[in-house]
Amino acid sequence: MQASQPVSTVSPAIAVRNPRSGKDDYEFTPPTDSELAARCQALRQEQMAWREAGLAARIAVMRRFADALEAQREPLVQALSIDTGRVSVAAGEIVSAARNIRRWCERAPAIVTTVEFDSKIMPTLRVAHQLVPYPLVGVISPWNFPMALSLIDSVPALLAGCAVLVKPSEVTPRFAPPLRAIIRSVPELARVFDIIAGGRETGAALVANVDVVCFTGSVATGRKVAVAAASHFIPAFLELGGKDPVVVLASANLEQASDGILRSSCLASGQACLAVERIYAHESIHDRLVELLVEKSKRIRLNYPDINDGQVGPMIFDRQADIIDAQLDDAVAKGAVIRCGGKSLSLGGGRYVPATVVTGVDHGMTLMTEETFGPVTPVMKFRNVDEAVALANDSIYGLSGAVFAGTLEEARAVAERINAGGMSLNDAGLTRETYEAEKNSFGYSGIGGSRHGDAGLLRFFRKKALLAQRGVPARI
Ligand code: NAD
Repeated sequence: MQASQPVSTVSPAIAVRNPRSGKDDYEFTPPTDSELAARCQALRQEQMAWREAGLAARIAVMRRFADALEAQREPLVQALSIDTGRVSVAAGEIVSAARNIRRWCERAPAIVTTVEFDSKIMPTLRVAHQLVPYPLVGVISPWNFPMALSLIDSVPALLAGCAVLVKPSEVTPRFAPPLRAIIRSVPELARVFDIIAGGRETGAALVANVDVVCFTGSVATGRKVAVAAASHFIPAFLELGGKDPVVVLASANLEQASDGILRSSCLASGQACLAVERIYAHESIHDRLVELLVEKSKRIRLNYPDINDGQVGPMIFDRQADIIDAQLDDAVAKGAVIRCGGKSLSLGGGRYVPATVVTGVDHGMTLMTEETFGPVTPVMKFRNVDEAVALANDSIYGLSGAVFAGTLEEARAVAERINAGGMSLNDAGLTRETYEAEKNSFGYSGIGGSRHGDAGLLRFFRKKALLAQRGVPARI
């Protein structure tokens, strides 16, 4: 794909809010369009040597990158924790990034294999597939796991032999300079991998300069990226929002179900695409499940004033707190009851949403239909499995979900009927824990090849057919 003609514009500096203090205490200047285009061009030029170095050489470089991430983690953790207002999740992002790089390095040789066979249709023909990596992959990431979601697609793309340029969210750009310094400490990698902070204009300009775009973010922006990618004739892999349902059957172990639900709904203070956002409980166990959720939610502490204490941190993007408050107001106005927690609290300039359980909800409330992105657990009763499945499927989203039941067989029978890319059985949010299983989202939660499993690597190659005639070409 040809790079578009760069148009130079002077980019104004972007001010960045600190999620704990509420103050703008950081700013950065995004690249001009021509600076971005030039960087893309340089990465593209280096990609050929990276591709030709072969998989084993790329694996060796990526292993050094994982080592460098760990060895130089301190400035990265510090920047990420200011970006996100949390420490333990920030530290965890680096641990899991290094682990995922090593996992991909281990798996890649078995995935990137040459396929060659004799044609069954034309016996003289020998067929081979050549895997040709896309030259330059653009990665556009969101603010909720700034580092993990900047690397999640970059690592398999680099292993495939592509060059990669990441554009992180303008809400959380502080981690980009330390990550860039780590990348630069591995010179072979720095030739083909970079991260450049920018706002939405930089994101749009990136789409115009790459051969594939991997986007993680909201449905509204994902749609714009898909349209732009289509107009540039490049593939777009979109990982978008979610409204993950959990079905709790009458036979479920409620202690375990309530633990799994709360761990997943309060993960990263609910700011996770795969956070549990709506619970459907069989009428016979609804009240007991709610009792357990309320009792356990009351024990979940805010991560304030001590950043090292508690489990629920400030909302990274303050406007998300307004969205959550509006959803709770709408639900209460329509008859829902807040059983614990409630609307956001302003503490020291940060916006905190406590672990919140809501009952008396239905699908006439935005709390049950629109992405909440906070630690809120609304619970609705169902009478039979058909009703539970219909409710779970009554959504524009289809990212993931969960079923709790007395046996895995019972859970699976229900999970197979739910429209979602990944379903956890007798736990929740398991798609985050393992990247082994391929998954394709339903509805507005995404399009494009799976980011997980073998396809997560293979999608960065074009497959080229080499067709060798061992006989004599046919005459006209
Ligand atoms: P967002 O859509 O507002 O922004 C995402 C990125 O897109 C940012 O880097 C932004 O600068 C960039 N951008 C904005 N306009 C653009 C344009 N016109 N062209 C190109 N890039 C543009 O999303 P967000 O608020 O940062 O993130 C939260 C959303 O991300 C939630 O909806 C969440 O569910 C979703 N998410 C999905 C997954 C997943 O794997 N499915 C994972 C995490 C988050």
